[in-house]
Amino acid sequence: MGTGDAAMTRSLRNVDDLVVAGLVAPDRRSELDPVGRRYAIAITPEMAELVDRRDDNDPIARQFIPTRAELHTTPGECADPIGDAAHSPLKGVVHRYPDRVLLKPTHACPVYCRFCFRREMVGPGGEALDADELTAALAYIAARPPIREVILSGGDPLVLSPRRLRAILAGIEEIDHVDVVRIHTRVPLVDPGRIDAEMIAALATPKASFVVLHANHAREFTPAGREACARIVRAGIPMLSQSVLLRGINDDVAALEALLRAFLAARIKPYYLHHPDMAPGTAGFRLSIEEGQALVRQLRGRLSGLAQPLYVLDIPGGHGKVPIGPGYLREKRVEDPAGELHEIDR
Ligand code: SF4
Repeated sequence: MGTGDAAMTRSLRNVDDLVVAGLVAPDRRSELDPVGRRYAIAITPEMAELVDRRDDNDPIARQFIPTRAELHTTPGECADPIGDAAHSPLKGVVHRYPDRVLLKPTHACPVYCRFCFRREMVGPGGEALDADELTAALAYIAARPPIREVILSGGDPLVLSPRRLRAILAGIEEIDHVDVVRIHTRVPLVDPGRIDAEMIAALATPKASFVVLHANHAREFTPAGREACARIVRAGIPMLSQSVLLRGINDDVAALEALLRAFLAARIKPYYLHHPDMAPGTAGFRLSIEEGQALVRQLRGRLSGLAQPLYVLDIPGGHGKVPIGPGYLREKRVEDPAGELHEIDR
């Protein structure tokens, strides 16, 4: 198997499953079937359980339950919004910056986020790297000493079996010039049972490794999810966060504050807050950069520096990620979080 199929069969994976679970009204089936044919659907039992079925705008449902709006592509949206393809020298590798590389061993995820920036690529039918392709990807990294960091992404690398994940990490461990391995995942919260002793053993590596957890709402932090994160941290693997700023999910300062506090309480350092990308059919999730900056400015006044993520934009077309948070310097004056200006003497 090698792609965590056993765990993923627990997920609700199509419109019929969602209807049976009471997450979608039966009379919406015909409206959503075309969405299901175009984009992958999955929600784990843990996340389905969290959905408040009485709330039409429930922030958990909004992340995972499809809507008809996804079939509507607006101007500027494109299949590869952050330009992975232009920087992909071979299958499963994205090499955008000299010192780091993205390695995508699988296109499968335990949940399929309705706003996903790789939504045209991810899915259960997406191609995983076979043994030869993985060997070729590792050889590419091994042949380039400037590469110091490997980011396992996808898809979600923690849907791989522990055995397969261990094999990939073992391959990376043989490359002396790679110092850091980062694993980008939603698994610890959306499918916490996968973070068992075997998975923890697979993750143990002599390289500096970080698990970067994707979550967008404080309610995703269930007791089981927090315990899964604690297992990773107790194994000596630091955790960082990444979230997407999303209309109707976390686009108010109280929701963002609760999310960032939930990360910190789980011993996860807030790292990235992504401005939403121009993925097809995701207009309903996007807000303007000005709105995003206003929210981030309010966070500065409400949370300690430890809780502040970097607000970033992936420039469309593959030009990389840049910080887009509000600026506080005004010529020789600096602006405090309340908007008051102070003279500075340097
Ligand atoms: S888990 Fe990540 S890659 Fe998978 S659908 Fe969600 S955002 Fe996309």
